[in-house]
Amino acid sequence: METESKILKSMDEKTKYLTPIFGSEASDTQMPLDKMNEEPVEPRLAYEMIKEYLSIEGNATQNLTTFCQTYMEPMATKIMAETMEKNAIDKDEYPMTADLENRCVAMIGNLWNADPSEEPMGTSTVGSSEACMLGGLGMLFRWKKLAKAAGINIYSERRPNLVISSGYQVCWEKFCRYWDIEMRLVPLEKDHLSLNMDTVMDYVDEYTIGITAILGITYTGKFDDVEKLDELVEAYNQKHTDLPIRIHVDGASGAMVAPFVDPDLKWDFRLKNVWSINTSGHKYGLVYPGIGWVIWRSKEALPEDLIFWVSYLGGEEATMAINFSRSASQIVGQYYVLMRNGFNGYKEIQQRTLDVARYLAAEIKDMGIFEIYEDASNIPIVCWGLKDDADVSWSLYDLSDRLRMSGWLVPAYPMPKDMEDTTVQRVVARQDFSMQLAIKLVEDMKKEINTLKNAKFVTGNTQGVINTGFNHGGRAAVDKAADVQSSQTKEAK
Ligand SMILES: *Cc1c(COP(=O)(O)O)cnc(C)c1O
Repeated sequence: METESKILKSMDEKTKYLTPIFGSEASDTQMPLDKMNEEPVEPRLAYEMIKEYLSIEGNATQNLTTFCQTYMEPMATKIMAETMEKNAIDKDEYPMTADLENRCVAMIGNLWNADPSEEPMGTSTVGSSEACMLGGLGMLFRWKKLAKAAGINIYSERRPNLVISSGYQVCWEKFCRYWDIEMRLVPLEKDHLSLNMDTVMDYVDEYTIGITAILGITYTGKFDDVEKLDELVEAYNQKHTDLPIRIHVDGASGAMVAPFVDPDLKWDFRLKNVWSINTSGHKYGLVYPGIGWVIWRSKEALPEDLIFWVSYLGGEEATMAINFSRSASQIVGQYYVLMRNGFNGYKEIQQRTLDVARYLAAEIKDMGIFEIYEDASNIPIVCWGLKDDADVSWSLYDLSDRLRMSGWLVPAYPMPKDMEDTTVQRVVARQDFSMQLAIKLVEDMKKEINTLKNAKFVTGNTQGVINTGFNHGGRAAVDKAADVQSSQTKEAK
């Protein structure tokens, strides 16, 4: 304790006297470490010092790891900043804000081909994690009710299960752990980098609460074939009328891309057994974090147990979010971008982003040593590995390291369970990743590959993990990351 407080004291002194902002009082101001300062500081100083402290952590545009929005235009951030004080849950006090949320649900439901006559229901959330939790709970409550009616002992030792591919995002693991549900993983394989339609139904039984299809597997960007899945599920349901299976689509990234660039692809409420869908408003919904959406196809699809009533305009309004208080500014931001861009604006942004990603994929393929796993065929994601015969003495982790020298964050990571031996690297292109930047990234990649080729000494980090900044899901990645006290691996994006 003694030494610890000494160290802290000396840290305090360092932060106090070594801030050379000329002509200001900053050199006298301390950035609090573990205890509040006694005295207030002037707002401008607090601003400058915190801003400077944060400024060195890399720039968001070059962070090609994250799916999250890193750009919004000034008018969008203005209206968001101006609505930060509104509490989204106070629907009675802020009825106009509540109205904008309902409009967003209706517009997004319309994009996903919900039928208004079926009375689709939905809500904003903090992100897809909360939205998936709700989608999962919807499945669980529905199963419980049907299973009880079918005479199945829902309190037996046997746990209910959820069927999903091993490329799931970590939020599904949370859902299953929190609610004591068995996660039935359909493995990804080299020739099945999405949910395997040949085997998926083998995992289903009367304890299955539902199947989650992923529109945009976090690891690779690939889409599960939801249309095919719906066919398989329909055939199953014909034979199991008392306990039909329904599908939840985790469209965190893809559900705000597909409707614009591939409207003929059937993955949404056009399919009979798709009962709920989620997306992240802060991914390709084009809003800063954190906002997400979950929508059920009909009133019937949303179990009543999930609905709570709050007062609203002298009446009552349904709420099903898990969180209570949070700022309404993201909802306002979502409404702003939906209104500002319109369908064609969104389409153009998503298409341009795809074009840049496809250019990048073509260039990386041309380098000759990489196997392309995903070339932005569905969402603007490029994913590659080293060819078996690439004959290089460095790994993708080394390349990832080298690219950091020019500020690029391009993670390398192992594929999920059953494919852990395959290492991949991934770029998530977003609207602020322009063609100019893609050209620069290709140049930098070529330069760094050349450096690695000529290097006499390579760091030799072929085990991965140590330098990977990727923890978007999968037990393998999570388990391995737990061993490594890297601050990057702990950060979920
Ligand atoms: C990002 C992601 C999530 C989690 O979304 P958040 O909005 O970050 O909570 C869930 N599922 C998939 C497929 C994702 O890509």
